[in-house]
Amino acid sequence: MALSGLEIYKLLPKTNCKECGFPTCLAFAMQIAAKKVELGKCPHVSEEAKKALESASRPPIRLVTIGTGEHKLELGNETVMFRHEETFYHPTGIGFLIEDTASDIEERIAKINKLKFERVGQQINVDLIAVKCASGKQDAFLAAVKKVLASSQLHLVLISEDAALIKAAAKEAKQRRPLIYAATKDNVEAMAKVAGENSLPLVVRADSLDELAELSQKITAQGAEDLVLDSGSKDLSSKIGDLTQIRRLALKKGFRPLGYPTIAFTVSSDLYQELAEAASYIAKYAGIVIMKNVEAHQVLPLLTVRQNIYTDPQKPLQVEPKVYEIGQVSDKSPVLVTTNFSLSYYTVEAEVEGSRVPAYIISSYSEGLSVLTAWAAEKFTAETISKSINDSGIKEKVAHQEIIIPGYVSVLSGKLEEESGWKVRVGPKEASGIPSFLKSLKG
Ligand code: SF4
Repeated sequence: MALSGLEIYKLLPKTNCKECGFPTCLAFAMQIAAKKVELGKCPHVSEEAKKALESASRPPIRLVTIGTGEHKLELGNETVMFRHEETFYHPTGIGFLIEDTASDIEERIAKINKLKFERVGQQINVDLIAVKCASGKQDAFLAAVKKVLASSQLHLVLISEDAALIKAAAKEAKQRRPLIYAATKDNVEAMAKVAGENSLPLVVRADSLDELAELSQKITAQGAEDLVLDSGSKDLSSKIGDLTQIRRLALKKGFRPLGYPTIAFTVSSDLYQELAEAASYIAKYAGIVIMKNVEAHQVLPLLTVRQNIYTDPQKPLQVEPKVYEIGQVSDKSPVLVTTNFSLSYYTVEAEVEGSRVPAYIISSYSEGLSVLTAWAAEKFTAETISKSINDSGIKEKVAHQEIIIPGYVSVLSGKLEEESGWKVRVGPKEASGIPSFLKSLKG
């Protein structure tokens, strides 16, 4: 159970010597309770206190890493049940199943590799390929693993309940630090040994949370620490129930045996039902989701959901406030203004591009708020837009003085004309109206 700041303070030396970098022992204790510093920063903690404080300074959900280097996939280390309480830190890894008996392994790998998109200025992509030994044969399993290693940089999950097969595959893929799947009540010792000997993260699978906790304790006693939990294949609501319970027990009760990230496999083969399943697991609270279908039009919405959930609600995505040139602009091209909230800017940009009418877009600094929110918060006003016109250098780029503002803030027209000296034209309320609006200007 996690300790409160005051409970931690009682165990510290209380000399306020400041060597930890904090002005008082109490301030330091509060930071430990918030998991923001490590106990090791205080050189004067007694051994006895260290033991008692160990659990308070360990994250309630262990950070588990798959892969190595700059693009490693980090799971866990989450601190809240609800995103609005703080933020979610480590986005759910999205992966796809490949069985070693499939006749189209290469095509499937190539298709998975292409699942990369750009959205609101960020690259979003899938993370994993899960190779399953469906044949029961080592040769076929290793051949499939080698194909993935040779043709994809995505992270790997190796799936078999035969520890000998996992050991052989782990030898091939060890450099890429794959996740191995799965330890069950029938193979727990052997799987823990493979994970321990190769320093690899290991999935523990059981149908009930009690059994899962029992198994995870057995494995950590054998020295393997990097675990991922799977409560088995279930219908959507039971699985979400399990994922929520695991998260709650780890965060609210400090229950160490379930203090690990989780994995969920979709069960539906229908494209859209599978999408709904995977999106639900991303929201609640899977560390990894493994899917069967590999269709771009199914995966893009899923990656969008993930991007939205894992964006820090306290730090909206922003674009640089400046003037952007869309298409072959000239000094006669129209000038639009929007806020510097990424979603607002890229929505306008996409519609301007789609219109094929070259235009300038000024993204006016609004602390990353959307148009109406920024207007209500007085961050998108006649004064701020006028300042953006002056600071952006647009006056040197165009031979006219006319600006198009979003229809929702038409109320700003008069004041903006006064402030800037530019003629204000009110654009459409919704970005989807931009193409016909721009075309009508040409005519
Ligand atoms: Fe207190 Fe230790 Fe920090 Fe000194 S270093 S102020 S004893 S917590």
